[in-house]
Amino acid sequence: MSELARQVVDGDRRALARAITLVESTRADHRAEAEALLAEVLPAVGGAVRVGISGAPGAGKSTFIEALGTHLVEHAHRVAVLAVDPSSTRSGGSILGDKTRMEQLTRSPHAFVRPSPTGGTLGAVARRTREALLLCEAAGFDVVLVETVGVGQSEVKVAAMVDLFLVLVAPGGGDELQGLKRGIMELADLVVVNKADGELASVAARTAADYAAALHLVRPRLQAWVPRVLTCSALTGAGISEVWDAVDEFRTAIAGELAGVRASQNREWMWSEVTDSLLDALTADAGTAALARRLEGEVATGTVTPTAAARAVVASYLDGRSS
Ligand code: GDP
Repeated sequence: MSELARQVVDGDRRALARAITLVESTRADHRAEAEALLAEVLPAVGGAVRVGISGAPGAGKSTFIEALGTHLVEHAHRVAVLAVDPSSTRSGGSILGDKTRMEQLTRSPHAFVRPSPTGGTLGAVARRTREALLLCEAAGFDVVLVETVGVGQSEVKVAAMVDLFLVLVAPGGGDELQGLKRGIMELADLVVVNKADGELASVAARTAADYAAALHLVRPRLQAWVPRVLTCSALTGAGISEVWDAVDEFRTAIAGELAGVRASQNREWMWSEVTDSLLDALTADAGTAALARRLEGEVATGTVTPTAAARAVVASYLDGRSS
């Protein structure tokens, strides 16, 4: 076993941080090293509860993760927090990373908080986070929380790497309930209405009832678990331990399904890697890339059908490979 792999498996947080930097690198030699490292630690992977946490900006995600993470650390868990920030893929800036976040948790020797990788496509960010998740597990973190912002595709990516998907919402906002895409409700195993404190407590209770009614209309994702709605206050800590109790209950309920879910997640991951790798190779082929650009223009003006253009692009790539 390499020195770095050994240190990661020993639970050395600085080695873990270095290992994650390695998997985040796009350099070809780093990529090869990262793959070797992941293969080495694979036997130590699989032991954590993987929880996705999503919510609109301002719902209270960082406050909630700080409260939940601190609660878990106090109960002898080791907690890793990762993030998939869709904004970071475009601008290099981020919704999730700008403020000082989770200060208390960051200071705990039993926690590991890592911001979202920046740059690259959402697919690339998700892949790096998924690999970071495996490294955290190998390092002995028994709870991995993966945070994302509630804006579209990033949720789907995160749901595909976790066991339980939690949607955090703020009280009120009947409009938000309308606007909250049905797709997100379909992903949710738990909906947690945060900020159930002070003047917002009664609104939070009403919001929870609204979500419970909305969830009723969604077909459950798993056989053994009916999604449920809870309320909490990340600020006061009320309801936080009940959220974790629900996660525990979920794990017990779906214990028989988990291996199958993770197996199908791995298969999907493999195929998305195949797709991404092929696409990378195709766009790296100068002749094919030039043809694709030309055909994009023709497709846009309607002189060539998208189907014919796609076939020509693929044929050009395959011809280049065989000649
Ligand atoms: P994020 O954008 O989802 O990460 O949200 P933050 O954790 O940054 O919280 C957004 C705002 O909501 C901040 O001003 C928090 O202090 C506030 N907040 C978070 N949780 C609670 C809560 O449980 N109760 C109340 N009253 N405010 C909260």
